[in-house]
Parts: sequence; C-alpha cells; structure tokens
Amino acid sequence: MSKSGDVYTLNDLKRWQESGLPRTHPKFAVIGDPIAHSRSPEMHQPMLDSSGIDASYIRLYLTGAELKEGFELLQALEFTGVNVTIPHKEDVFHLMSERTPIANRIGVVNTVLIDGDRLIGHNTDAPGLQAALRETFAVDLHDLRILILGAGGGAGRAAAIQCSSEQCERLVLVNRTLEKAQSVAEEVKPLMDRTDLEGAGARLTAMKPTDPRLETELDQVDLIINATSLGMKASDSEAFPYRFLQPHHLVYDMVYAPPATRLMKSAINQGGRAENGLSMLLWQGALAFEFWTGLQADVEIMRRGLAE
Ligand code: NAP
Repeated sequence: MSKSGDVYTLNDLKRWQESGLPRTHPKFAVIGDPIAHSRSPEMHQPMLDSSGIDASYIRLYLTGAELKEGFELLQALEFTGVNVTIPHKEDVFHLMSERTPIANRIGVVNTVLIDGDRLIGHNTDAPGLQAALRETFAVDLHDLRILILGAGGGAGRAAAIQCSSEQCERLVLVNRTLEKAQSVAEEVKPLMDRTDLEGAGARLTAMKPTDPRLETELDQVDLIINATSLGMKASDSEAFPYRFLQPHHLVYDMVYAPPATRLMKSAINQGGRAENGLSMLLWQGALAFEFWTGLQADVEIMRRGLAE
C-alpha cells in the first residue's frame, strides 16, 4: 500500500519503466493538476485490499502537456485503472481509443480502463451524482425542479445530462459564461420531453447568475446543485446572492473541501437542507471500481475509508 499523501510524477513512471515497479505494485492512479488533495486513494485502497487485489492506488501529478506520455507509460507499466480529475477530464476524453456511450454523451472522461493497447474512457460522475442525491435526500430526479450552478463546466454538464435523462420536472442551467449554458440547454432539450408536463422548451432555461430572473426561478426549484468550484476557498464569492435561498431548498454542493461551504451554511441558516459532494465522490468511485474490476464494490468499505 502506498503511504497516504504520496504524490508521484511522470519521472517516477519513467524510472519504473527502467527499473521495474516498486513492491507496492501500483496499478491504479488518480491523475490531476493539482493532485495532492485528492481523497480517492482513501476509498480505493481499502476496496482493493478487501477484494484481495494485490495492487496499490496512487496519486499521480501530470500536467496537461504530460498527459499523452503519461498514458503511454501507464500502458507500458500495465496499470489497470485511472481516475481523472481537474483539469484533465476533457483532454483525456480525446486521448481514448474507445469510449462508453455515457462518456460520449457527456464529452468528458473521469474513469479510464487500460486493457493492453486499449484505453477505454468512461464517466461515472453523472450516475454517481444521481446515486448520491437519492441516498442523501431520498429523492428521484424525475420528480424535481432543479437548478444547476456551473452548468457549462464538465461536472455541471454531466449533472444536466443526468437530470434531463431522468426527465426532471424543470431544469434551470446557470453559468457565468452564458453561451456554455445555452449550448448545454440545446443539447439536453430533446431528453426532457414527457407527456404529463408542458413541453421541454417551457421547462428548460439557461441564464447567467446575475440575471434578474434568477430570484423568481429560485422560488420554483426544489434542488440546487453547485457544480462550480466556488466554495473551495474561504475568499470565494457567492455563486448568486445567498439571501435568495429558501427553507424548501435542498442544496447539493459538489465541493467537499471544506466539508461545509458558504453555500451550504447559508442554505441551512435559511432553514433548508444541504450536503457536500463527498457522497458523489464515493458513488462515482464505487462505479469506477466496478468498471475496472468487474467486481461489485462494497460502498460501506469505501465510505469507511473516506471517513477514516
Ligand atoms: P470545470 O469544468 O473547470 O467547470 C468549472 C465551472 O465553474 C464552470 O461552469 C465555470 O464557469 C464555473 N466557475 C469557475 N469559477 C467561477 C467563478 N469565479 N464564478 C462563477 N463561476 C465560476 O470544473 P468541473 O470538473 O466541472 O468541476 C467543478 C467543481 O465540481 C469542482 O469544485 C470539482 O471539485 C467538483 N466536482 C466534484 C465531484 C465530486 O465527486 N464531488 C466530481 C466532479 C467535480 P465558466 O464556464 O463561466 O468558466
């Protein structure tokens, strides 16, 4: 098992290619820039250990310019599985030799299976979010009016596609760069049609967080999902005026460090319910483990790993 907190680099991969893998037998990795903060090893290592898989899961720092060579080395070293985090999910999508239908639909890859010459890209963020919401709030996306902050980013797009695929009642896509939210709205519109409600066009809207219509939209949504990176730093501004939050709101913040963001605290102060993104991390990780190994993940083992 690798020591928690270790971060490896491209140079380590090159060294291992020359002198062989270390005794810890690294076969799984999470890649990103930065990567030291990633909590993925804490849940994956206990799951690998309890499945009797003799392999370690490492944090691997790769810059965008190192991605191609990094994957060539990971293939040469016969790694099995890779998780991808900020800012590489879109670039990794283009490096894949094959992609699952859900990865193709979302256009970003957060999970890679290395199978000899094949690099198979997958996305577990969207179904991971759905599982997390069901567990946290005991809700089904189909029944909800949903507002997504950061709907034009990778995680926001994944959330929008999942919500529209479940034909949620209403979908408000909010993004600082309006064009990105509008383009996601065009893309998900055909998924939203259902016979018991008015047309998809009337139930779907895109706007900037500064749009004066946002306050009225907030009156009419049940669930607010934050898919921006706002909230990670104490100095971050509000994603919209948090005084607009109401007691009926369920707030799911994909950010999980810090565990209680300003958005979450504001929602709770206004009488609403709020949860951080740790459960999404857990469920996307469980789905990634299943994709790599073909084994069923024990979510409780992974949850304990994160809690410890
Ligand atoms: P991304 O593709 O870079 O998207 C970032 C989004 O945040 C974009 O919509 C961007 O708007 C918006 N944004 C960034 N800075 C902003 C600011 N100052 N004001 C307003 N909007 C701002 O990143 P991502 O991969 O989607 O990740 C987004 C967040 O979700 C990160 O915090 C990430 O850690 C988290 N996440 C969590 C999980 C989990 O398992 N819990 C999984 C995936 C992601 P523009 O389009 O206008 O730039």
